[in-house]
Amino acid sequence: MDPIRIAVVGVGKIARDQHLPAIAGNRAFGLAATVSPHDPGVDGVPHFASLDELLAGGPAVDAVALCTPPQVRHDLASTALACGIHVFLEKPPGATLAEVAALHSQADKVGATLFAAWHSRFAAGVAPARAWLAERRIKRVEITWREDVRVWHPGQAWIWEPGGLGVFDPGINALSIVTRILPRPIFLEAATLEIPANRAAPIAADLHFRDTGSAIVHMDLDWRQTGPQSWDIAVETDAGTLRLSSGGAVLTLPSGTQRDEDHEYPGLYARFATLIRTGRSDVDIDPLRLVADAFLRGTRVAVDPFED
Ligand code: NAP
Repeated sequence: MDPIRIAVVGVGKIARDQHLPAIAGNRAFGLAATVSPHDPGVDGVPHFASLDELLAGGPAVDAVALCTPPQVRHDLASTALACGIHVFLEKPPGATLAEVAALHSQADKVGATLFAAWHSRFAAGVAPARAWLAERRIKRVEITWREDVRVWHPGQAWIWEPGGLGVFDPGINALSIVTRILPRPIFLEAATLEIPANRAAPIAADLHFRDTGSAIVHMDLDWRQTGPQSWDIAVETDAGTLRLSSGGAVLTLPSGTQRDEDHEYPGLYARFATLIRTGRSDVDIDPLRLVADAFLRGTRVAVDPFED
């Protein structure tokens, strides 16, 4: 089978750290082009300053991976789908729920694949955690997602702007895991969002969810953590506590600890290839909906200005 000719659009941190290596490591894909307004791209691969320039005069592509900030993703995705090009959306899949729904309908109409990728769901511990929890009664879930924004998002102005999600940019990864592993849906009961006086998005948030079986789900998000970082989920059940740590890579059950190599992005690209080959889309908006509910229902508290 011919490789899927793919263009990476938005050559920034995640494109370089994960997408380009994952594409290079998957024979189902061939990197046909890169697109980025300022980044020079990759040696030996045709590069364009905009998607329109690629589509107007570049090599033919079957798929694009959109690795831009979420605020510009809808228009890029819609332009690609209008040409029948399959689309991989980095997380979060868009800046609003409605624009993602519109893309999903457009993809169905033109018969192209739309993949809303949630990379943390491909962390090694997530599938076994889901299987173990399916048999258990859930009592309480504690999510602690605390990291240092200066380390992980240096100079990324978009992340503080409307649609950039602030601390929910990493926090949505935890929600993508929780919505995958818990046997019942969860919904928001209360939230407090701490927003720096000079920014539009939260630097910290405290959220209280409940599942439809009355288990409590508490989430603590903070971008001001220095020293060791915390990406942990603990699920108390009738058979003991399950812990996912290191963002889902390490799973601890009452019987012991399992850890595996990082295969999040190779897993995402394997899934994207399967979706394309089988003519399907995969667009789960549950994590983004919970974040939208936090903005809808949460209490906003102004905190000290944040300087990079
Ligand atoms: P980033 O470093 O700021 O990179 C985004 C890139 O998008 C920029 O370098 C910019 O390119 C490009 N861009 C902006 N507008 C564009 C447009 N209209 N057309 C083409 N390219 C455009 O951000 P990032 O950290 O890679 O994050 C991007 C997305 O990946 C976010 O949704 C984030 O949540 C997700 N993500 C990030 C990480 C991470 O570790 N950083 C992990 C997982 C997922 P120029 O520099 O050329 O202007």
